[in-house]
Amino acid sequence: MKLSRKNFFKGLALGTISLPFLIRGLGGKNFAQEDSSNAPNVLTAKRYRWKMVTTWPPNFPIIGEACTKFAETVEAISGGRIQIRVYGGGELVPALEAFDTVRTGGAELGSGAAYYWAGKAPAAQFFASVPFGMNAQQLNAWLLGGEGMALWEELYRDFNLVPMPGGNTGVQMGGWFNREINSIADLKGLKMRIPGLGGKVLEKAGGTPVLLAGGEIYTGLERGVIDATEWLGPFHDTLMGFQEIAKYYYTPGWHEPGTMLEFFINKELYDGLPTDLQAILKTAALRVHVWTLSEMEAKNAEALTNLLQKGVDLRRFPDEVIEQMRAYTREVIDEITSSDPFSRKAYESYDAFRKKAANYSQITEKVFYDQIQRDATLNLG
Ligand code: CA
Repeated sequence: MKLSRKNFFKGLALGTISLPFLIRGLGGKNFAQEDSSNAPNVLTAKRYRWKMVTTWPPNFPIIGEACTKFAETVEAISGGRIQIRVYGGGELVPALEAFDTVRTGGAELGSGAAYYWAGKAPAAQFFASVPFGMNAQQLNAWLLGGEGMALWEELYRDFNLVPMPGGNTGVQMGGWFNREINSIADLKGLKMRIPGLGGKVLEKAGGTPVLLAGGEIYTGLERGVIDATEWLGPFHDTLMGFQEIAKYYYTPGWHEPGTMLEFFINKELYDGLPTDLQAILKTAALRVHVWTLSEMEAKNAEALTNLLQKGVDLRRFPDEVIEQMRAYTREVIDEITSSDPFSRKAYESYDAFRKKAANYSQITEKVFYDQIQRDATLNLG
């Protein structure tokens, strides 16, 4: 990077100008060399001290741990050239300000899920989760083997951010209910904590999506402020304690068939990095991306077993309900894509890929799942 006054101050604002750079830039050409005998690592390699702001509660199991793992991986592969301090939501800035904080340089990078930014960019939700959309494997294929990643980068470019896949929750559960859902009519008047597109679909069914922060959901359900809530899967749901206060645990999580998590980094900063450090960041993100989904699958399978041992009443949404929710989902997506050109462009690619993936999985995954299921013992009716 050529040292101009503009770059200099920009660099300071982003925390990227290292000490040796300053010294050389200010004319102390030999100083760094002389001093390097005392502290070679400090003065011969450019070092970065960054902040990661996240949308997750501090140390949130798996998803928050993934951020720490990302920081550790980046530090290890870069030989300490990049050190990242991770902040939980609310520790440095409120959770939902992470996006703006990073794009304006208040922190170097962040972690979230793209649907949190739907208010700024409606198309963002297609890079997190779409009701009845692609699962983790298919979404990976679209992002990393199809056009998805280029579209995501194009969308975030306008916000001065570079996105990276940062994990996936896998198929989520349908949620905890204090009333039985036997027909679509049972969703009428249902007050449920269900964010994003899923909430819009529930609204079409006559229900009321209620916005509650993570810490308020348990009390809300216990006191009847809400009749139902979705959260994640058996592992995280058990930690929330919903099994103590809700009558029924429904599957599937039609609204979140595989929610993609993300890391995002300030683009101006990223573009100015040496290419090896850019590669290190992307490699670390991919490592964590795989780790998170694997951890989710492993912990959820174990937690489900424990929940069933405790006698949780596991239910499956009737086909009629699922079919109607699919129809409402198409209406919700039509409304988004008809009012926002980039949403239309992104969803066209998403949906074309989804249809191809559906055909392919019909003759591969689906057939093989019938074999896997031979060892399954649950009877959901
Ligand atoms: Ca959820």
